[in-house]
Amino acid sequence: MLPVGFLTRLVQARRSLLLCRGCLGPVGAGAEAGLCARCWGGLVPLPEGRCPRCALVHGAEASHGEDAGAGCPEAVAWALGDALWDYHGGRPPLGALLLPGIKQGEAGWRKALLNRLPGVPLPAWAVEVDRVTSAPSALPRRLLRGFDFGAEAAQAVAARLERPFEPLLAKGWRSGRQASRTESERRRLPKRAITLRRGAAPRGRVLLVDDVWTTGTTLLRCAQALLEGGADEVRVLTLFRAL
Ligand SMILES: [Zn+2]
Ligand SMILES: [Zn+2]
Repeated sequence: MLPVGFLTRLVQARRSLLLCRGCLGPVGAGAEAGLCARCWGGLVPLPEGRCPRCALVHGAEASHGEDAGAGCPEAVAWALGDALWDYHGGRPPLGALLLPGIKQGEAGWRKALLNRLPGVPLPAWAVEVDRVTSAPSALPRRLLRGFDFGAEAAQAVAARLERPFEPLLAKGWRSGRQASRTESERRRLPKRAITLRRGAAPRGRVLLVDDVWTTGTTLLRCAQALLEGGADEVRVLTLFRAL
């Protein structure tokens, strides 16, 4: 005889397996990594008519010619920028569910998302790049997690474009030690010190890949480091864009 408490827990565990971890509805057919097909449908492209530089719809005329993004009010250091999916697409917003989960070690979500990269349409200009790199994550965090999702996404994009993936950027140690500094000391430091890796020589047209693009501050610092390091041009592609 099994104790009743055990059976109750078993029933509860089974029920939790059958509920979608996104919408808490029944998972049904087409579910993957604990999310139902409807939730995965939240991977939606960004709106048409977005700026070719900041990937937002802001009224300035979208063009893809020489002066692409000429009317863009955003501070960017790259020639062209785009993202594959809307971070807030779907209900619940899928990007906002997936990325924090992946960073906490949701291996199933990470795999499912990376598996979608070979099939998703890339911007037409992506084929014009010479090499692919990723925004760096801090070394202690990377070691702790055991993976670097931005680099994994960049490698998948590089494979798709048949271009080399080169880890060109590093995140400084400074950002990790701020807790021990006084407020005024902290303010004098750059929030995140992004530099070229030792020996890295970015050349030609570099595609900078990251998982999510929100304010773009990290991407800006990355692009500046690449340009100062000798890249002819930087283009940006992220998995998600938060609008
Ligand atoms: Zn769902
Ligand atoms: Zn713009």
